[in-house]
Amino acid sequence: MKFDTKVVRAGITPDPTTGAIVPPIYQTATYVLEEVGRDKGFDYTRASNPTRQTLEHQLASLDGGKYGVCFSSGMASVDSCLKLLKAGDHVVCSDDVYGGVSRHFNNVLTRYNLHFTYVDTSKPEKVEEAIRPETKLLWVETPTNPLLKVTDVEVMARLAKSHNLYFGVDSTFATPVFLRPLELGADIVLHSTTKYLSGHNQLIGGVVITNREDIFEEMKFIQKTIGAVPSPFDCWLTMLGVKTLHLRMKKHASNAQLVAEFLEAHAKVERVTYPGLPSHPQYDVAKKQMDGFSGMISFELVGGISAGKTVMNSVKLCGLAESLGAVETMITHPATMTHADVPKEERHARGLTDGLVRISVGIEDPEDIIADLEQALKEV
Ligand SMILES: *Cc1c(COP(=O)(O)O)cnc(C)c1O
Repeated sequence: MKFDTKVVRAGITPDPTTGAIVPPIYQTATYVLEEVGRDKGFDYTRASNPTRQTLEHQLASLDGGKYGVCFSSGMASVDSCLKLLKAGDHVVCSDDVYGGVSRHFNNVLTRYNLHFTYVDTSKPEKVEEAIRPETKLLWVETPTNPLLKVTDVEVMARLAKSHNLYFGVDSTFATPVFLRPLELGADIVLHSTTKYLSGHNQLIGGVVITNREDIFEEMKFIQKTIGAVPSPFDCWLTMLGVKTLHLRMKKHASNAQLVAEFLEAHAKVERVTYPGLPSHPQYDVAKKQMDGFSGMISFELVGGISAGKTVMNSVKLCGLAESLGAVETMITHPATMTHADVPKEERHARGLTDGLVRISVGIEDPEDIIADLEQALKEV
């Protein structure tokens, strides 16, 4: 099956009892056994549910993985991956990760004696330097949030293998339409399905995908033991959202390219970061490993924070909202919104300036998005 066919069809078969083309929502907690010790493959929904299983097969297939395990949020998925480790272990992590991820690592997991070193994973020598004997996991986000740094997944996979580390990639920003990290040697791919995969701002969810049976067994065990599972209804909504992923992503990316080029040419914009612009520091790596550059842009205005605030308060079509990856264009101020919990000094050291603005470009007509930004920039 070609990729676009997989997006629409993979993992989904008509309901065997009725022929319903859309699989039903199995909204049930438990399942009646045929006799002691004999069930139909399901016993309790925390452990498994037919609707969730359909989604897990669909998502695994898109990333070229054998196994998918769904969780109730992207963060619950990250937490489950970190449960592969034990007290004393060390993690090397991209320095520009999603704010919730660094909050979880620094404020929760350090209580359990896990240790973290943050490095710019777009620079392999920095990763190599940070690896210690206790290092067990290399955790990479690409492109990162919000600075859109791109990490060479193949190079990291080789490095992880040579040091015997688990290698996980948070691929939320790229989606399997543009990047399939398992094919480049990653052990784990993670998505916040809240974003592009479900795609319509309708739910919170996450998934872990792998080809390794040992990792899959551990993820299933954590899923069933802790119970951070998505509801059957949320699984069903995600499954429907995914069926148009390829179309949406192509539109997100072509719109973002136009918006990025508009911003880069604008006199009031100091700097634009978009992996599809030749000015992006890892443009060549992005071009090599991705089939498109997705829909996220960040930019800095001449005039810093006050100019940024003016633009964000002046947009009309773009929604001032946390989150990303939905059909509507959304604009965010990382310093006060998504990354407010990252201490100011650390934020600045990471290049996350107070004037930075992030846009998740939607699938509206690009002329309307650009016109809205243009009128907002006039207010500066
Ligand atoms: C949103 C996001 C997460 C967390 O996902 P939730 O579904 O909000 O819990 C993790 N990583 C990245 C890159 C994200 O954008």
